[in-house]
Amino acid sequence: MDKYILIIGACGQIGTELTLALRAKYGNERVIASDIREGQASLMGSGPFELLDATDTNALEEVVAYYEINEVYLMAAMLSATAEKFPMRAWNLNMSSLFNVLNLGKERKIEKIFWPSSIAVFGPNTPKENTPQHTIMEPSTVYGISKQSGERWCEYYFNKFGVDVRSLRYPGLISWKTMPGGGTTDYAVEIYHKALEENHYSCFLEEGTALPMMFMDDAIRATIQLMEADTAKVRLRSSYNLGAMSFTPEEMANSIREHLPHFTMAHAPDFRQAIANSWPANIDDTPAREDWGWRPKYDLKATTMEMLARLRDKKAR
Ligand code: NAD
Repeated sequence: MDKYILIIGACGQIGTELTLALRAKYGNERVIASDIREGQASLMGSGPFELLDATDTNALEEVVAYYEINEVYLMAAMLSATAEKFPMRAWNLNMSSLFNVLNLGKERKIEKIFWPSSIAVFGPNTPKENTPQHTIMEPSTVYGISKQSGERWCEYYFNKFGVDVRSLRYPGLISWKTMPGGGTTDYAVEIYHKALEENHYSCFLEEGTALPMMFMDDAIRATIQLMEADTAKVRLRSSYNLGAMSFTPEEMANSIREHLPHFTMAHAPDFRQAIANSWPANIDDTPAREDWGWRPKYDLKATTMEMLARLRDKKAR
């Protein structure tokens, strides 16, 4: 059967690159982008786009029926830093959009779902180093609570109703095409922009704050690989730990100094420090490696080279 894919929240940091990658793979007309706002030209110009609110059950059903959608990637959510400011809005968006999509699966209106979780499902009582797939999970943020609940619901819909839902616990994602949308790891993108523009960055996290991170190309590859894996290989239907690298702000600044020797960084921690303190430093992703063959390609050095080169190009245009 032909694949028709709907991306919800397609104009965001991940959705933009995911949509372009899926269009390149399956054909522009088969990948429908949707969001509550319009996105950048490369996305809007390369295939169908619908203005769609993920919490509007009827509108979602109409789009799914109209385009004969069989796969949905749900990327709409309120991220960690913004969610702390608007807890009820975050809970409503993050949960009702997920239920809308899971129920489409339950009613057999779609066949396969991708829903992203996050390292935010872990909390201050989780082992910080080499955080295992199965461990203490007591998230202390609004965002983390919604992701942890989402994971439980995904597993429940798989077990109870046979819904083919697949999920990854993304670490902080580093990308150059789109700016991040209000997360705690946003510094790891902002730093490259500021390095090129001002040769200085004031970091909202303090020294020594190690967090799990990943270059966007790895995250997109992991997402598509998981969605294409044989059903039997996807043994976990909550969400897979996904690792690539871990570093502190100073380590990142040092990697930038290899290219821009005069780059300086100051620290002015804000409320996001408490969120970062509750998260793991690095992740053990053995089940993802064993079940469906996950291997990251980008380390910090490769990420810095790619980010500086691509952003230089983009700013010169
Ligand atoms: P983002 O904020 O950049 O993009 C989210 C998109 O959803 C935006 O374009 C926004 O306009 C759209 N949106 C908001 N409300 C909507 C609604 N009601 N209906 C439809 N669209 C709506 O977020 P992102 O970084 O691309 O994250 C995508 C997913 O991945 C989220 O579930 C997020 O929690 C998860 N995630 C992201 C990261 C990261 O580092 N970026 C890390 C872990 C998990």
